[in-house]
Amino acid sequence: MKRIFIDMDGTIAKFNVPNALRRFATEKGFFRRLGAYKGIEHINELAKNKEQIYILSASPNMYADLDKKNWLRRYLPNLQESQIIICRNGENKAKVIERKFNTKITKDFFLLDDYTKNLTDWENAGGTGIKRITTVSDNSTGKWKGLILKQLEELYI
Ligand SMILES: [Mg+2]
Repeated sequence: MKRIFIDMDGTIAKFNVPNALRRFATEKGFFRRLGAYKGIEHINELAKNKEQIYILSASPNMYADLDKKNWLRRYLPNLQESQIIICRNGENKAKVIERKFNTKITKDFFLLDDYTKNLTDWENAGGTGIKRITTVSDNSTGKWKGLILKQLEELYI
């Protein structure tokens, strides 16, 4: 069965605000106020019909976890609690999923993420990475050679 894991910061949530990382770690309510990228409604539709859609997002602490969950309730209300996986900053997302599902990840496990390191870790573990391309994450260095997604509306399962 195919599963798609979707990052938040820079992938569906607009994270390009000044001092985002520091403010995210220290400012209560910071994440909740970030905007969503165009096409977020499409992801919400996918989440309604397909339980293989998951959010897989890293956060610095439990307060930020709550902020992220609030953001998801607002923009992706069709997601069930079981479709939301939040790990800690710096964790290897592939390892997080292997632990959670108690299985090795395979090509049928897709990660949509704007951060090439996450995608590389994911593919090294056996999964399929999809690089999210936006105005702030454009793969202009050409480091990522795999699948890419420019419009959220183009995601399908
Ligand atoms: Mg990201």
